[in-house]
Amino acid sequence: MKLLEERILKDGHVLGENILKVDSFLTHQVDANLMREIGKAFATYFKTTGITKVVTIEASGIAPAIYTAEALEVPMVFAKKSKNITMTEGILTAEVYSFTKQVTSTISIAGKFLNRQDKVLIIDDFLANGKAAKGLIEIIEQSGASVEAIGIVIEKSFQEGRKLLEEDKRKVVSLTRIQKFENRKIVFMEADA
Ligand code: 5GP
Repeated sequence: MKLLEERILKDGHVLGENILKVDSFLTHQVDANLMREIGKAFATYFKTTGITKVVTIEASGIAPAIYTAEALEVPMVFAKKSKNITMTEGILTAEVYSFTKQVTSTISIAGKFLNRQDKVLIIDDFLANGKAAKGLIEIIEQSGASVEAIGIVIEKSFQEGRKLLEEDKRKVVSLTRIQKFENRKIVFMEADA
């Protein structure tokens, strides 16, 4: 997605070996206009696939996921990262190691929001080693729902997430794919949508 690549080049900052900071438009301050375009791009790709729900993980997945859900005219559900006393029954959980926080946490979704008729599109802001996506797949499949694909805003293709997901026969659709960071410069490769 050209618009997104341009924005990443303009406002993204490479931190260390493998982290991209995009807090001015995606992970902290959010550019709603750009998110709407991201939502439309995913919706155009998936419009004929019969998606019934978009699922993401809090917090940074929520913005692209809600606009994708809006464009596909389906509900969005986000997995929570901390226990909530109002979630009392039928909780589906999975363990996820966070790439940026370097801790393992239990993520959860109330079972009543997913059922075996659901065809789910997972959306997340980044794909690094695939742990967040794997945790979401685990939760979604516990409910009997099926995962149609994983839609990613920024894939760091030099990390192993896509490879692991594809080995597991999962479809990954990324709007941007970063091949490498070269002297703190971002080098893109051809994206999926
Ligand atoms: P994974 O689970 O694929 O290893 O990592 C994906 C998750 O880690 C995403 O949900 C995202 O929040 C976070 N993440 C991974 N890489 C980056 C990065 O380079 N920059 C930022 N801001 N977040 C990242």
